[in-house]
Amino acid sequence: MEEKMDEKLHIMFLPFLAFGHMIPMGDMARVFSARGVRASIVTTPVNAPTFSWTESESESEIEILTVKFPCAEVGLPEGCENTESVPSPDMLHPFFKATTMLQAPLEELLLKHRPHCLIAASFFPWATQSAAKFKIPRLVFHGTGAFALCASECVRLYKPYKNVSSDSEPFPIPHLPGEIKITRMVLPEYIKSDAETDFTRAMEAIRDSEVASLGVVVNSFYELEEVYADYYKEVLGRNTWHIGPVSVCMRKQEKGRRGKAGWMDEGEVLKWLNSKEPNTVVYVCFGSVANFNETQLQEIAKGLEASGQHFIWVVRRSDRGWLPEGFETRMKGKGLIMWGWAPQLLILQHQAVGGFVTHCGWNSTLEAISAGVPMVTWPVSAEQFYNEKFVTDLLQIGVPVGAKQWVRVFGDSVTGHAIEKALNRIMTGEEAEAMRNRAHKLAQMATAAVQQPKGSSYCQFAALIQHIRSYRMP
Ligand code: UDP
Repeated sequence: MEEKMDEKLHIMFLPFLAFGHMIPMGDMARVFSARGVRASIVTTPVNAPTFSWTESESESEIEILTVKFPCAEVGLPEGCENTESVPSPDMLHPFFKATTMLQAPLEELLLKHRPHCLIAASFFPWATQSAAKFKIPRLVFHGTGAFALCASECVRLYKPYKNVSSDSEPFPIPHLPGEIKITRMVLPEYIKSDAETDFTRAMEAIRDSEVASLGVVVNSFYELEEVYADYYKEVLGRNTWHIGPVSVCMRKQEKGRRGKAGWMDEGEVLKWLNSKEPNTVVYVCFGSVANFNETQLQEIAKGLEASGQHFIWVVRRSDRGWLPEGFETRMKGKGLIMWGWAPQLLILQHQAVGGFVTHCGWNSTLEAISAGVPMVTWPVSAEQFYNEKFVTDLLQIGVPVGAKQWVRVFGDSVTGHAIEKALNRIMTGEEAEAMRNRAHKLAQMATAAVQQPKGSSYCQFAALIQHIRSYRMP
């Protein structure tokens, strides 16, 4: 690829079709664009509105390119273009199959637009080869921090779960700095089983394509996970650039509009928060995938009520029949239930918010760290149990609610009493105060990391741009 040094750099982004990928990659595209790079995002028609905030008043323009998602071809309902709308776990297989069929349309776009680099989600392992066909380097975006990447790689390489006698016996993760202990229960089945399946083959392809790619962009900042950033680079041998937290770079009006399109009601929630004292509100939200059954939701309601704390609780359903009798009336003024989706960044950054009950998705975790908010950790699946360890054992800005078992979608059961206890631990008393102080320091570090001219993420971003500019595909 011949390029003049003064030509505007063009980066194409290919986020996985899940909010946990589209949101940070949209933020990332915004960061590139604000620093003079031409950014384009490839997505499907149903997902395109997720990026509508990028057409806002901001000086940077981000181009949205759409490709058809082959629902009918794999037997998915029409419009099912996002993990959130997959009707049942057994439909995940056809959904993933459909994502592999995006390869040909992506290649057409690469041929037409000839970007200087493709940043594609790890779940598109074929993207490295597709880009290479046009001599375009590919960077991988995992959507998690370096700690979880290192922990899961050490578990995969050294298989410590094979040497314990029960599912609940704790064992340290070998070679991982920090003596981190986990149990077999927090690992997904496919890791523990020796059987080769479509899924294990897909995971292998993801790893191979990562090794063959130009490197990995991480939405995190170096100072937050220094030891693991170094381990990932120097011991596990991946080229990495820590360029986050990208959400910190968003402007206020963008923060309100970011996320699921058409769901924002920031006026009402901000008015409600403005009426509360600093650090008196708990925000409860479990991201865009994790779910709970009605009995568990009732326990959450009981725990919130018994804790006596003010709360905002995001519930991703519309029926209310399962709520404990009279709950909404009793909680008037005390708690706000947001049905469906909330402007999370604005909420976490509001001074009234003093705690966050989270499923430990990496975006939510990093957004809380950046806002200086201590957490009650309630991991469910993916790499969330590693993120819990990071928050509670290493950063010491959170307490576990007591979830013990990795489950694909519906969270492990926790009693209202355990929720109440964990909430009180992060909201009141000396322990809470110490966690809040640590969290505030980390938030200051996060802001400093993206700041011009010396912030670590600001500098790593500049180094990445330089690397892309000077890189020539063999
Ligand atoms: N989010 C939001 N409002 C909601 C739920 C989620 O804005 O009501 C955003 C949240 O700020 C984060 C993303 O959705 O950026 C969720 O990503 P995360 O990695 O935390 O969890 P996932 O959805 O991938 O499990």
